[in-house]
Amino acid sequence: MLVGASNPCPCGFLNSPEKACICSPSQISMYKRKLSGPLMDRIDIFIEVPAVKYEKLIDTSIGAQSKTIREKIEKTREVQKERFINDHILVNSEMQIPQIKKYCQHDLQSQNLLKKFVDSGKLSARGYHRILKVARTIADLEGAQSIQQNHIAEALMYRLKN
Ligand SMILES: [Zn+2]
Repeated sequence: MLVGASNPCPCGFLNSPEKACICSPSQISMYKRKLSGPLMDRIDIFIEVPAVKYEKLIDTSIGAQSKTIREKIEKTREVQKERFINDHILVNSEMQIPQIKKYCQHDLQSQNLLKKFVDSGKLSARGYHRILKVARTIADLEGAQSIQQNHIAEALMYRLKN
């Protein structure tokens, strides 16, 4: 698993409610282009996180939240392990195309939504398959049997944010 972080712009304050960003639009776009398209295409989830406030740093309840999240993830991984019992893989991210076709079926509305993004060039073939795997995981986290349109929409949102 690859987890990375970057500043939103060279000065680091783009979209910050605390301090104004001093970068020009061209500086920001040049900064974002440092990561190549093919590399970005292999990253499934992009999220913007605000700077951590002092109150959050000293908040002891965060440990408890983390424990709850861990339990939910462990349960979800168990579901996936069971799903792939005959496929010799453990989790959704390891699915190859035949498994994606088998386990990531989605309704017509979801197909139309994905078609729009593929046809407009916003989603590559690789991106398309990765979206389905992330949507399967979102559905699993919710305990949903099948992938719904909102799962696809959420997966698209994580990907298209960059
Ligand atoms: Zn800036």
